[in-house]
Amino acid sequence: MRSVCGVVGKWMCAALLLSAAAVRAQEGPVRGPALPPNPLPYDLLLTNGHVLDDKNHVDMSGDVGIKDGKIAAIGAHLNPKDALKTVDVQGYYITPGLIDLHTHVYTGTGEKNSYAGDLSVMPDGFTLRNGVTTIVDAGSSGWRNFDDFKDRIIDRSRTRVLAELNIVGSGMRGAKYEDNLDDMDGKLTGEKALKFPGVIVGIKSAHFTGPEWKPYDQAQIAEDIAHIPVMIDFGANRIERPLLQLVESHLRPSDIYTHCFSGLRNEQDPQTGGPSKALLVMRQRGIYCDVGHGGGSFAWTVAKPIVASGYKPDSISTDLHVGSMNNGMKDLLNVADKLLVLGETVPEVIAQMTSHPAHEIRQEQYGNLSVGGIADVAVLSVDHGNFGFVDMYNTKMMGTQKLVCQMTVKDGKIVYDLNGLSADMWDATKHSADERQARRWTVFSERPFGATRGQRFPTSTPVNAPPQVQDKAIPKK
Ligand SMILES: [Zn+2]
Repeated sequence: MRSVCGVVGKWMCAALLLSAAAVRAQEGPVRGPALPPNPLPYDLLLTNGHVLDDKNHVDMSGDVGIKDGKIAAIGAHLNPKDALKTVDVQGYYITPGLIDLHTHVYTGTGEKNSYAGDLSVMPDGFTLRNGVTTIVDAGSSGWRNFDDFKDRIIDRSRTRVLAELNIVGSGMRGAKYEDNLDDMDGKLTGEKALKFPGVIVGIKSAHFTGPEWKPYDQAQIAEDIAHIPVMIDFGANRIERPLLQLVESHLRPSDIYTHCFSGLRNEQDPQTGGPSKALLVMRQRGIYCDVGHGGGSFAWTVAKPIVASGYKPDSISTDLHVGSMNNGMKDLLNVADKLLVLGETVPEVIAQMTSHPAHEIRQEQYGNLSVGGIADVAVLSVDHGNFGFVDMYNTKMMGTQKLVCQMTVKDGKIVYDLNGLSADMWDATKHSADERQARRWTVFSERPFGATRGQRFPTSTPVNAPPQVQDKAIPKK
């Protein structure tokens, strides 16, 4: 930069630096000069929270220390002097970063009416603001288009995006593809999954309307090759292939049944309103019950009596897509709120969004706050008031608690901060932490102070800046 500054002059150079800083501010994490070493035990310390970590049986008031993207310590009283940056989260829960086991994020292909296209959403727009750091795309792509999905979304997202591979080679591109028995190949699907261990974490069958068992049996073949679980969206309700038979003889322990509370495929006992025999067999055999709320898979008339009978979901998930997120579903915390309405506790719903889904996809490195483990963290508050929670039939149940994501930490860095818990006041005269080290604990730009301020933010109006115009009332015609 020095030689450029010599040629173009000091003010032009300041403008270049300014525009570079603006780009960095938009992009978040930056490449730059090496950070000075941090001799302290922690980069970031969250203090005075209520730590909930189901996997490690932690449910206590305390602090979480983070260093180099890993959990460094959890304790009742960690010392703020041991951290570069301390954030007081009093009154809030500190939980593992949430995992959403069922989403659709293969967007950007331009295909209409397709979950491998316009019906999917961009992950980062919907996850971090909800405390979600890891999601699983549930079968939007198959072995034919997974590489495109990976390049387009997985490799470019700040959110950790994992995938269940559709048993249909072309993925979720609509009925013409998803009902095509000739494109269901367990061997090719399993072999594709083997090439991406830890990224392809499951096999998905969905939306099938035919009477055959082929999609489910091909999924088992893929499971045997790749040793990853199968998740079933059971599609159309066909008498030729009843749910009871699926869970008795076409699924195995540790497979996952999603859309558990839709009531559309005999999940509910018509006499008692409680769980059907199929749901009971599922639990007996160790097949997991996943919510997968979606646009049409959570009915109060189904979920209320089933949960009241003591049958709680193993995992809470959204089935996020453009149709569900503006409908009853909203987001992952809204789905969790619904389980709170049905009598679950905050620690229970947190477990169902952290350690449980991590276990289901056999990725136990996520969804917990183990010392030495990945520092994905959600800071959540519980608002109290009168809230309406809407189901798939646009009916609502009222509740008094609402989970709100205050802050999200991914790989040790703050990536979302609703109320600026980590921010200094705009008119502060000095930083509360060493600005030069900020990249160790946040992806956000810190306002420069002191000697660097004059260089990077000249106070004079830059040359060629548009003139400042006063707003004038537009006369009505
Ligand atoms: Zn889905």
